[in-house]
Amino acid sequence: MAYNWDVLDLLKKHFGYDSFRPLQEDIIGSVLDADDTLVLMPTGGGKSLCYQLPALRLDGLTLVMSPLIALMKDQVDALRANGIPAAFVNSTMTEREIYEAQKDAYDGRLKILYAAPERLANSRFRQFLRTVNLSLLAVDEAHCISQWGHEFRPDYRNLSSIRDEFPSVPIIALTATATDLVRKDITDQLALRSPEVYLASFNRPNLTYTVHPKADQYDRLLDYLDKHRDRSAILYRISRRGTEELAQRLNQDGFSAVAYHAGLGDRGAIQDRFIKDQVQIIVATIAFGMGIDKPDIRLVVHYDLPGSVEQYYQETGRAGRDGLPSDCVLFYSFADKIRQDYFIERMESEAERQGARKRLRSMTDYGDLTKCRRKYLLAYFDETSAEDDCGGCDICLSGNEERSDATIISQKILSAVIRTGERFGAAHIAKVLRGANTQQIRAHNHNELSVYGIVDDLSDTQVRETIGLLLRDHLLEQVGEFRALAVTDSGRDVLNRRNPIFLPQLTARAEPKAPSNQQDAIEYDSALFEKLRALRRTLASDRGVPPYVIFGDAVLQQMAHYFPQSDETLIQMSGVGETKLHEFGSSFITTIRDYCRLYDLGDKLAQNTYSRPPRLRTERQPRAKTLGGSKTLSDTQRLVRQGLTLSQIAETRQLSKTTVIGHIERLARSGDRAGIANLLPTQPRIDAIKSAFDLHGYNILSPVREFLGEDYTYDELRLVRVFLNTRERETEN
Ligand code: ADP
Ligand code: MG
Ligand code: ZN
Repeated sequence: MAYNWDVLDLLKKHFGYDSFRPLQEDIIGSVLDADDTLVLMPTGGGKSLCYQLPALRLDGLTLVMSPLIALMKDQVDALRANGIPAAFVNSTMTEREIYEAQKDAYDGRLKILYAAPERLANSRFRQFLRTVNLSLLAVDEAHCISQWGHEFRPDYRNLSSIRDEFPSVPIIALTATATDLVRKDITDQLALRSPEVYLASFNRPNLTYTVHPKADQYDRLLDYLDKHRDRSAILYRISRRGTEELAQRLNQDGFSAVAYHAGLGDRGAIQDRFIKDQVQIIVATIAFGMGIDKPDIRLVVHYDLPGSVEQYYQETGRAGRDGLPSDCVLFYSFADKIRQDYFIERMESEAERQGARKRLRSMTDYGDLTKCRRKYLLAYFDETSAEDDCGGCDICLSGNEERSDATIISQKILSAVIRTGERFGAAHIAKVLRGANTQQIRAHNHNELSVYGIVDDLSDTQVRETIGLLLRDHLLEQVGEFRALAVTDSGRDVLNRRNPIFLPQLTARAEPKAPSNQQDAIEYDSALFEKLRALRRTLASDRGVPPYVIFGDAVLQQMAHYFPQSDETLIQMSGVGETKLHEFGSSFITTIRDYCRLYDLGDKLAQNTYSRPPRLRTERQPRAKTLGGSKTLSDTQRLVRQGLTLSQIAETRQLSKTTVIGHIERLARSGDRAGIANLLPTQPRIDAIKSAFDLHGYNILSPVREFLGEDYTYDELRLVRVFLNTRERETEN
């Protein structure tokens, strides 16, 4: 492609990225060739870049039509932070503001102008368009033009007149709705001329899909909120009252949660607080989500059953736009289906009811799946996935277990639990089923039950293991002081409906794994990451923009991994472009440097990290410049060998303890470990530290410190690490 280099330069310079996401490059090529282009790409796929980057290359103005007025400001803020001259015009602005934005465009000072389609009904705006050099028309959320889409907006029909009026201006239309009907409607309505159509995969590899039976759902929810502590989450509920109750309960439990539904007054303000990370959790009815582009939502929970797979896919799609690992959780119960049925039966026409029933069925099928949930979602949108194990749904992750039909034995167990009055434990149930002759069985006349002795093909252990699996799958639960077995609501459902039950095979049970799609995430120093987030929040609130406009989480995580301490290394982070480097670089470098000095961490991307410690320049004590610092090292070495304590060495050398430990680490690396043992804490402390390192890895200290608590110092951890590393080498030899 002829544009290749140039386009990659622009990508780094203005957006900070080093590579394109799938299809972006081809789409940009098509636009720059002045072809009409239709882009079908899932939420988070990176559609904006497909017109924003060409806009930089084209001579004139790119006009972006977008239905969401609330979003325009954020998008323009994000562009400006990247050094791209952009503006918007909409009905919330004064005449004067509109005039000024249009004047800037007229004078050629803008590359991108956002407007809502209703603006096209305004004759002065049409007049304005005729006076500018229009290079490209981008129609975002293009499904809004289609009656067949779920968000038809009549104003979008105005767009067709633009094609008539500016026949030579190419159009790029973008949407996350990929049905054939909508696609055809977009092409017709916009009169696209044999458009290049780009259909991306609708797979969202960074999302993990999980379904839980709706039992103890609040506790489960807390587990997820704990996993994503202090990160953005959306919880969906069916009813307004449900949103308010859940938000209130979460607030009582110390979370920052707000209810959001159509009956509330200032919904814009709620959205704004969420986008700016001033509130962590939104508990919403389906009305929430359209108007936000927040890239760092880590968790989307459906607390009640949604009405269709389309809706579910769309709502879960709001998680993890930035490509970082995120969770999508559904709590599912038969009672919820009944409730939805009730709504459906109240619908007016039979045709409506039939459609709604079919959609609901697609959703309950999703809940009942015994095979990959991702595969099912993709198949629903006519996409076949080759992989059998997606590594990112509860089914694929349940230890990769071969599940097999265990319906008969499960039914027998569930019945036995019910027949014996839900008052006994697994051992007793197994004995009843296997027809044992015990005192307890005789005492309760359990040998007279119909379930007595009906299992003869499994051992006692196997029956009890099966009970364990039914507990894990929440068909059984343990209740009361004696943890007696009881059948859950979903267990009763399954039994009454005679549904098949698939359980992992008893012999081949693996440990549950962490989602493999979440392992790609970069390992980073979480304490530094939090400091960088705090800095980002301050910079953002000074400027009145959402924090993600400064840098996304992915960028901060890279910083907390590579510890860049200069412009040259900071700009190597994906997401740091030139404008942001100039604007924010020094603030972030200062924070990283301060942190790294404290823990003596080097810039991993700088050359000669060890011969050029960044703290050298700022240390107050003037130092004799000796051969590569070897004099200073050998001084420390001497004192260590003399058996001095760490404080004594630091005192004598007029250095910080941290620096002294840095020396000791270097000495140990070069094979000199004499005297180190003197500096160690007591054996129990060494043992505790060793097990924490084994658990959290030896590379980053902060998780280990976090694990052990304040009582342990970083100095101590580092010394023990040196000792353990050298000891390991000794035993290897
Ligand atoms: P969509 O409109 O398709 O939902 P966006 O255009 O809002 O997606 O992009 C989603 C996220 O992906 C944004 O945070 C954006 O900065 C990021 N992104 C887009 N292109 C790239 C890329 N080439 N490399 C890394 N991140 C990207
Ligand atoms: Mg978009
Ligand atoms: Zn799967």
